[in-house]
Order: sequence, then structure tokens, then C-alpha cells
Amino acid sequence: MSLPASPTSVPPDLTNRTIAYFSMEIALSPKLPTYSGGLGMLAGDTLRSAADTGAPMVAVSLVHRRGYFRQHLDDTGQQTESDVPWSPETTLPSANQLIALTVQGRQLLLRAWRFDVVGVTGHIIPVFLLDTDVEGNDEWDRHLTDHLYGGDSYYRLCQETVLGLGGIALLHALGCKPEVYHMNEGHAALLTIALLEERLAGKPLREATEIDIDAVRQQCVFTTHTPVPAGHDQFGLDHMYQVLGHDRAAAIDCANCLHNGLMNMTYLALRFSRYVNGVAMQHGKVSQKMFPEYKVYSITNGVHASTWMSESFQELMDKEIANWRTDNRYFRSVYGIDPARITACHVKNKHRLFATIAKRSNHYFNPSVLTLGFARRVATYKRASLLLHDPARLVAIAEKIGGLQILFAGKAHPADNAGKGLIREVYAAAAKLNSAALKIYYIENYDWELGALLTQGVDVWVNTPRRPYEASGTSGMKAALNGVPSLSILDGWWIEGCAEDTTGWAIEDGETEAAEANSLYDKLEKRIAPLYANPNAWAKMQQHCIGINGTFFNTHRMLSQYFANAYYPPGPIVPAAISVTPHRRSTDTPEPEPALVTVR
Ligand SMILES: *Cc1c(COP(=O)(O)O)cnc(C)c1O
Repeated sequence: MSLPASPTSVPPDLTNRTIAYFSMEIALSPKLPTYSGGLGMLAGDTLRSAADTGAPMVAVSLVHRRGYFRQHLDDTGQQTESDVPWSPETTLPSANQLIALTVQGRQLLLRAWRFDVVGVTGHIIPVFLLDTDVEGNDEWDRHLTDHLYGGDSYYRLCQETVLGLGGIALLHALGCKPEVYHMNEGHAALLTIALLEERLAGKPLREATEIDIDAVRQQCVFTTHTPVPAGHDQFGLDHMYQVLGHDRAAAIDCANCLHNGLMNMTYLALRFSRYVNGVAMQHGKVSQKMFPEYKVYSITNGVHASTWMSESFQELMDKEIANWRTDNRYFRSVYGIDPARITACHVKNKHRLFATIAKRSNHYFNPSVLTLGFARRVATYKRASLLLHDPARLVAIAEKIGGLQILFAGKAHPADNAGKGLIREVYAAAAKLNSAALKIYYIENYDWELGALLTQGVDVWVNTPRRPYEASGTSGMKAALNGVPSLSILDGWWIEGCAEDTTGWAIEDGETEAAEANSLYDKLEKRIAPLYANPNAWAKMQQHCIGINGTFFNTHRMLSQYFANAYYPPGPIVPAAISVTPHRRSTDTPEPEPALVTVR
């Protein structure tokens, strides 16, 4: 394993780190199983951009000793899973700091491992991975930081407690005093309670006043990532009291953070943040409707360009575009490059993808045939099977246009039986097709490396979510940076990224799945295939993908917007809460409101 940090490296000076970024998952290296999908990739790409652009950030996550799972698929597409254990002690330097928290009514000890994200100029973003596998801890507690998104709701709440309360305690013990705490999704929302605890300095949390809450709010920024209600973690009050203890739990209740009688991490984060955003313009609007009592802004996601651009493209850019690694806006000058050279890079990527598939699976694909890619977390709303809605029509198109190849990949969460069924459906539909012109293959174990190969190597990237559930989507941005256009439902980032016939194609909104599938097939047959048959026109489209979308949908631009609009906005900050509700207990008998005390 080659990782940038060695276990003996010098601890960083954290006193000048003003932004603390908290995320339950962070994709730090293709070799580390500390992420599951888009959320972790975004976190990793954000920190890689922070490193490249010299941002004063530090980050906190969990170590996930047994990782997110490796996916196995049998001949019918039935998914099984295995752990991906790794050993931080032989891989990363220790933070050399032991933290004690009171959780579940007992002492919980935490330590942390440090992963250094190193930028192009050598600037480092230290990432601390919290670990409860410490001698002296209760045996059950030692496994709290083993499984990303594993276990039951109680286990999840314990993990989120470790992330929020443990993360703040660690940073402060290390001498880091951030000015801004950025919660990447609600999992980290309990950090607000840790900040409140610090402010009250030993006084019972229930005595917190609106002034105290506002003081915490002034430090916190929250990014919400999904309009799917099941994506918002919530916990029963019994678990909340059991895990957090009476004082913290009562404070959460008193501060009016419960939602429908549950502790809802999104509402906790909303209540305690001065700036809240969705991850694309449309998602900001959808979230604003979901949370009308809070102001919700938008900052559209991006991807880290040099992480996702193939080597061939990076070489071309290094030759032709100075300083693109620290400032992606220079991609705009891709129009000075002969489009044929862009196509040449893509051809290399396509060959590399097919060679890898052949080596892994003995399936052979033809590099001169139009190839579509569809790879993402398997969730019902992502509708993996829309592309196969009318197999006969798809075969007819394939035969008419001189062949078609489709590559699928994606993991279903181990507990998601409906998702697992979707994979089997794709297998079954593909098995039924009997045509030499159409070749379909589902590739096992979608991860960072496969994601990169696919987005670099296919000709068209397909996305078919049910609107408006795709908050942003980022895989299509990776494709764009590699000169690969998208064919997608107008949802998430694609509403902003789609310039018809220029950067890709929109699948028209329909009343039914059949109507949307029909639009997809029409675009494929009447727009995409004819353009693909014209190499000069296709090369110009590839150039637009980089020049228009690569220039914008990157995390360098995204992070600069977080700095300008969320971390250090010009002028006074407009409070996120539109109507501040008074203190109210939702479960107990009404109590007199706590006195408002003046805080110096
Ligand atoms: C980029 C990426 C994702 C997120 O892509 P979406 O378009 O949001 O589905 C998920 N998993 C992996 C492995 C990725 O590389």
C-alpha cells in the first residue's frame, strides 16, 4: 500500500486551521475502505481541493476498521458481501491523544489516526479518523468504529455520538480552535451539542439560552445531501436518552430540535447552523420546501479534477494548460487544443477499460462500438432498469446503429433487499436478450477504481433517477472531465450541466416510466448514434464537456463557493432560521422558560 503518510511523520500545527470539516465517510485513498459512495467521494474530493488550493482546513471522520463491504455477484446477480478489514496501526500515524467521553452512561475512550491529504504544492489537510478499539473500553464499544453504515439504529447513534462529541473533543485536545464547523450531512450534527457543552463550561445544558444556541449557530455550516426522507437519520427518544445521557438529551429536547417526536439529525443540524445548503440549485429549492422555517442556499457539487481525469488527459492538460492543477478555471482554454487530441485520449481510456474487464472477467468488448455506462449505488429511485425498459426496442436500435454495449455496476446496501432485487432484474433482462448487436454486462464491486475506469472509458454516461431525488450526482461530472457526455434525466447537477447536443442530452420528463424510456431510446437512436458516427462532431462535443462542464463542476470551484458564501460571507450573515421558536419541551410537562442571561 503506498500512502502519503508514514507512521513516523511529524504532527501538524493545527493552531491555524480555521475550518473543521466533519463527515461520517471520507474517500481518502482507493486502498482504504473508509467510504461507501457519493457522500464520501465528495468529502474526499473537497479535502483534495482544499490541499491543492492551500485552504486552512482539518477534517474528522471514523476509522471504519472493517470498511464498507466488498460486493460479490453470482450468476443470477445475487449479491453477497464480505468485510474489508484494514489495520490503521500499521498504515497511519497516531494522533497520540486519548479522549474520554461519557456515552451510554459509561466511559468511552477514543483515539485517532491521522491521514494527510497532500496537495500539489505540498499543503497538507490532516484528517483524523476516530477509533474506539481501545484497551479499557467495554468489548461492545471497541467495535463501534468497525462498520460504516452497519449495525442497527442504536449502533448508528453511538457512531454519530463518537463523530460529533468525540471529534470536537479531539480537535480541542490537539490545540485546534476552528472558527467554522462544517457538517457534511446530518451524521455529524451532535458536534453542535459538544460546542454547546463547551460554552456552558460545566453548567447543565438545559440552562442553555437562545443566546448560547445562537453562539453555536454562528460557528456552524450544514450541507444536506438528499431529498429522500429515509436518508435523514432519526432516533427514538429512548435511545437518545440512553446513549447521550439525561442532560444532553433534555437539552436537545429543550432547544426544540425534535421532529415528529424523534431526534432527527437533519433538524438538529438545521437548528444549530447559521448557513445551510443543498448540493445543486434544484436540490436547494427542494430542500427549502422540505424545511420552510429555515433558509436553504445552494452550492453545486463538484469533483476533484486530477483524481478523476485519466492519466492521458492529465498529460495533455499538463502540456497545454498551465496551472490547471491549482486553478481549474483554466480548463476554459481547452478550446485551444485540437479536438482530435482529446479523442485520442478518450480512445486510450476506452481500451484500458475494456482490457481491465477482459482481465477480470473474460468478457470482451469492442472498442469501436458505442458504449454506454451506468454505475451508481443501487437505490430504487436511481432506476437502474429504465435503460432496459423495452428490450426489444433496445435490440432494434443496437442492430440499426451497428452495435451497442452497456456496462452496469453498483452495490446495494447489505440490508436493502429491494436494491438487491434490482441487480437481479438487470441480470435477468440481460440474459434474455439474444442479439449479437447488443452486449450488456454488470461489473462486480463498484468502487473508486472501477468508478474512475468507467467514467473515463465509456462513450456516454447514463443517469435515470426519479425526479427530484437525485440531489446532485457527481459521476457524470467525472465523465465530463474525461470528455464523456451524459444522457440523463433533468435532475440534480444535470439541470445545470446539460446543454443539449453540446455537453450531452436530456431525457425528457414523462408521466410514466414508459414515456421516459421512450425519450431515452429516441435520443439514443436519433441524436447520439448519428453524432457518434461523425468523429469530428463527436470530438467537438468531447471538447465542450471539458470546456463547459469540467471548468465548472469541480471541487476547486465548489470549495471557493463554500469560502465565499458559507464560511466567510461578505457582510452580516443572514440567519438560517427564519422563525426562531422559543424553548419548548415536547415530551415533558411544560416548564417555565429558562431565564435569558446576558453572556459576555
Ligand atoms: C463518484 C462515485 C459515486 C457518486 O456518483 P453518483 O453520480 O452520485 O452516483 C459513488 N460511488 C463511487 C465509487 C464513485 O466513484
